[in-house]
Amino acid sequence: MTDAGSRIEEYLVKKLPFTTDNYHTKKSRLSYLCIKAIKMKLPYAEPYKTKMVEYIKPSTVEQRKQWIKEADYNLFNLTSDKVFIDLLTDSGTGAMSDNQWAEMMRGDESYAGSQSFLKLRDTVKRITGFDYFLPTHQGRAAENVLFSVLVKEGNIVPGNSHFDTTKGHIEFRKATTCDCTIDEAFDTSVFHPFKGNVNIEKLEKTLQSHPKEKIPFVILTVTCNSAGGQPVSLQNIKEVSEVCKKYDILLYFDAARFAENAYFIKTREEKYKDFTIKEIVRKMFSYGDGMTMSAKKDGLVNMGGFIALNDEAIYKKATVFNIMFEGFITYGGLNGRDMGALAVGLDEATEFDYLETRVEQVAFLGKQLVEYGIPVQQPFGGHAIFLDANKFVPTIPRDEYRAQALAIELYIIGGIRSVEIGTILADRDPFTHKNRYPELELVRLAIPRRTYSLNHMRYIAAVLKNIYDSREEAKRGYTIVDEAPIMRHFTVKLEKL
Ligand SMILES: *Cc1c(COP(=O)(O)O)cnc(C)c1O
Repeated sequence: MTDAGSRIEEYLVKKLPFTTDNYHTKKSRLSYLCIKAIKMKLPYAEPYKTKMVEYIKPSTVEQRKQWIKEADYNLFNLTSDKVFIDLLTDSGTGAMSDNQWAEMMRGDESYAGSQSFLKLRDTVKRITGFDYFLPTHQGRAAENVLFSVLVKEGNIVPGNSHFDTTKGHIEFRKATTCDCTIDEAFDTSVFHPFKGNVNIEKLEKTLQSHPKEKIPFVILTVTCNSAGGQPVSLQNIKEVSEVCKKYDILLYFDAARFAENAYFIKTREEKYKDFTIKEIVRKMFSYGDGMTMSAKKDGLVNMGGFIALNDEAIYKKATVFNIMFEGFITYGGLNGRDMGALAVGLDEATEFDYLETRVEQVAFLGKQLVEYGIPVQQPFGGHAIFLDANKFVPTIPRDEYRAQALAIELYIIGGIRSVEIGTILADRDPFTHKNRYPELELVRLAIPRRTYSLNHMRYIAAVLKNIYDSREEAKRGYTIVDEAPIMRHFTVKLEKL
């Protein structure tokens, strides 16, 4: 040991009171601490290892050129065997644990009163604190059931950049949404630790300027998906709740990525750095009246959703719609085994070590891209990295769908499937039928949970670096040859120019 090392050890012996455990004598534990102090901080490592692998198919550039042409240059038309790394979505694409699979085997498939239902109900109560619980087959089904009770024609539902299906279920009921997200969320050049936050003044003005009966609830999306997986701070949640209480309005969470949101609170909001994730989650939800959940995200399952809430009267009304749309109230469109796996998944998703691996893997890819000079949205989201196609390929005209062109190139060069969040997604103006050009042309790289390795991230970054280095050669994009009148991005057919 070096002089410095022994001095540090001496210091630690005096300074650090600790109890010995079964593995380390006081001395060896101290020299371990000592090595850590003088050499390097240990990096995080995945708190799991691989028990089963799923092979993915490599292919050649020539094959992929042919396949994407046959798919009419629409990545949704590709079958999964033609994709090497699939970053289309993080929804329902994660890997389950051995404990979840074991719980699948224990699934109780009783129509009524299943043990798996009881397990899930008790877990949801313990993790969220909400008293009443209804399972549904996925997140939008939870919205459909809850909004059938709460949303009426002419209503307005304020929130922070509502998710598409949330907005869809509100507008379908001839009600409208009001986006009260802070302005910083829409400026990719500013750094703000909580870009999902609500502008409290704007929210208060909205609540003030409408009669109470017109506003059934405020909805807070955590993390805010539409703003790029950006979190909401606990301070902001508290302030939103105070405003809602002042105007006697309910506050619901769209909670698909609530655990990732809690991780950002722990790591970015000083006051909560010593709280466990489960404590933060309880605190977040303590400010609301209920939640809708897409379990395909932070539930760590491939399909599922639920509603949890405190008001018995609303719960009772919701059970009627749940039975009509989803199934009996103790299964709601889910198998018993699926409810069991979800109960275990919710516990695993709210552990710090898992979340650190999850969020830092996404950030690892982001940092690698930044190092290569590639323009990405910052700060990085919890579940995805967004490429800024306006800065990446400004040489391709906007009316030739530059973000889509970049997504296609990413597929051809590396077999990586991403998704365009740009002009194609934005659809046409319903009156003029002209393309609506959104401010940002993005390509989203959504990372499935516990699925790909850091080497996959390195591979993705290297593919993008190669594309970036020859970006000036990209001059032409694509033209639409066939499109649906609404939600065209799923089925659009394109031709190369
Ligand atoms: C995915 C998602 C939904 C919809 O859930 P599904 O399970 O896909 O039906 C709603 N809100 C948010 C924020 C989501 O990410």
